Amino acid sequence: MTDPLERVAGLRNEIEHHNHAYYVLDAPQVSDAQYDLLMRELLALETQYPELITSASPTQRVGAAPLAAFASVTHSVPMLSLGNAFEAEDVQAFDKRVTDSLRAAGKLTSDEQTAYFCELKLDGLAINLRYERGVLVQAATRGDGQSGEDVTSNIRTIKAIPLRLTGQPQDIPEVLEVRGEVFMNLADFDRLNDAQRSRNEKIFVNPRNAAAGSLRQLDPRITAQRPLRFFAYGWGDVGEVPFAQHSQMLDWMAQLGLPVNVTQHVVAQGAGDLLRYYEQVGERRASLPYDIDGVVYKVNDLTAQRMLGFVARAPRFAIAHKFAAQEAFTTLLDIEVQVGRTGAITPVARLAPVFVGGVTVTNATLHNEDEIRRKDVRVGDTVIVRRAGDVIPEVVGPVLEKRPIFATQFVMATACPVCGSSIEKLEDEAIARCTGGLFCAAQRKQSLIHAAGRKALDIEGLGEKLVEQLVDRGRIHSLADIFTLQAQELAGFDRMGQKSADNLIAAIQQAKQPLLGRLIFSLGIRHVGETTARDLALHFGSIEKIMSASQDDLLAVADVGPVVAGSIARFFAETHNQEIVIALQAQGVTPRAEVAARSAGLSGKTFVLTGTLPVWTREEASSLIAAAGGKVTGSVSRKTSFVVAGGDAGSKLEKAIELGVTVLDEAALRELLAQE
Ligand code: NAD
Repeated sequence: MTDPLERVAGLRNEIEHHNHAYYVLDAPQVSDAQYDLLMRELLALETQYPELITSASPTQRVGAAPLAAFASVTHSVPMLSLGNAFEAEDVQAFDKRVTDSLRAAGKLTSDEQTAYFCELKLDGLAINLRYERGVLVQAATRGDGQSGEDVTSNIRTIKAIPLRLTGQPQDIPEVLEVRGEVFMNLADFDRLNDAQRSRNEKIFVNPRNAAAGSLRQLDPRITAQRPLRFFAYGWGDVGEVPFAQHSQMLDWMAQLGLPVNVTQHVVAQGAGDLLRYYEQVGERRASLPYDIDGVVYKVNDLTAQRMLGFVARAPRFAIAHKFAAQEAFTTLLDIEVQVGRTGAITPVARLAPVFVGGVTVTNATLHNEDEIRRKDVRVGDTVIVRRAGDVIPEVVGPVLEKRPIFATQFVMATACPVCGSSIEKLEDEAIARCTGGLFCAAQRKQSLIHAAGRKALDIEGLGEKLVEQLVDRGRIHSLADIFTLQAQELAGFDRMGQKSADNLIAAIQQAKQPLLGRLIFSLGIRHVGETTARDLALHFGSIEKIMSASQDDLLAVADVGPVVAGSIARFFAETHNQEIVIALQAQGVTPRAEVAARSAGLSGKTFVLTGTLPVWTREEASSLIAAAGGKVTGSVSRKTSFVVAGGDAGSKLEKAIELGVTVLDEAALRELLAQE
């Protein structure tokens, strides 16, 4: 076992080192959670061996000495830290200590509970604002608690901080030292880091360090450009304290024009209420515009506060109940790429397991290649990982001071890790994609759902759920496999009775003769929408011709530009995709020729479709009418131009006859479209 004296000395050295990085340089090298562990170990050892406590121990002192570059300000009332609670038991023990003392002193009867003022613990830095006769005369950081840095010029640039208190002269106190937190909103923090990155300047670990770094600037013009905010939560020197309760003091400060976080405060009774407040705040933590690292409970009665007093570095009447840290430091072990359902290739950080935001994280998204370059994260780096709420963990950036010489830059793979197809990244796009489309297992479900959709092969009954089951059970690997399905095997699937199975098989049979444009659209070629697919069908007339078309041939199609032509050419250059078209043909899929709608001659005409048409599906008829400029509506009125009726037409046909609307069958519609 290590000698406790040695361990205590080691811990103190390490903590002092981190205090300097955090309080003086605003650039921590370990997470708050890691720091808290060291501090707790030191506290535990000092509790076990009280003879080892010295006044210089970090457990007895606050923060770090002020930076010599600033003038020093001696605080008239010391600025202390807060004791920490991490577990419910810590809060219960705190409440018991407080309540027992207050009962023993006769401040509470044996059945009364202690009233606490509960507030958010904003994660920024503490500041003391001194107002004399209502005018802001001095602002100082906490420093080591006894003296801090004079940051008056910088503080004056923060718009939320009044330079003069509001109220009638008789209501303004001679002296008022306001204490509160200077902080930065999350959105402002992100924008600041983006701007820092683009100028190749220091990236801040979190909003707390960004706020501290922005305030502790030697040039107030820099502070003025930083989006700092402020909330008051306490006071230092106020001469005669004018109220009996903490809550009244804050209400008073709000009346004097100081920003107080009023919507988030409550007064609670006893430990049960405190824990409920903690839980409620925890639920809304992720939706708050700023970072909080906990909540603070303070005894509300000010005479009780005075009675309870202070220990070395913190008051006895208050405690900070901390939340799980949202940032952690860990090692980036590797960067792998993942293929999403739409073929998007996302680089994923593989991390040494780290506890952050209440869970152990081993992966975090890196979004795309540009983002990796922008953040300059390299394999082997120590990185800052952030997980706020249920949001996917994110790599904020590297800790450059800790970059090992062997750290390696990421190189994007050229082949899809799932199917081996090539990966393409268009110049103006951030996302790289797998070109395996129909073939790639990662994209299979998505591409099948697309192909079965109403605007593609229109296979009614083959929805998302069924596709998922068919793929998960290994029954369908590619588009062509759909056409091998049998009614009897479908009966075993969720919500699939005999009738729905038969209907599905019938729909699949019907889908074997799709219009050529729909077949092309069903392949899910990037940048090829319904209209382009139809234009291609009309231009080339067969799938074979499209497959063998050169880039120039493709460019000859109206509205097809280089991006679309390139995408089509690359798609059919993949052997896997060619094989799927061949497999479809082998399953008897034979597309029908498109009918060209040469003009928008049906514009202004409305159509209602009813019953089953002999060849076209309703979807097909509708899109042909729409392409010719007509409009398809759902109900028949005097204004309807035509009702197109197929077999088993019902009430709509009757209504058309009643109103004297022209009725067409499919052949007549075909003629009408051909004329237009
Ligand atoms: P603290 O931040 O835990 O609590 C005290 C501070 O809370 C006050 O000074 C004040 O600024 C702030 N605060 C916010 N809301 C408040 C409210 N409503 N009422 C009162 N105070 C409020 O204590 P600390 O001594 O400033 O810092 C210790 C903590 O800082 C550690 O627990 C750790 O999380 C972090 N730290 C991290 C490193 C590191 O290297 N990562 C180093 C040093 C400190």
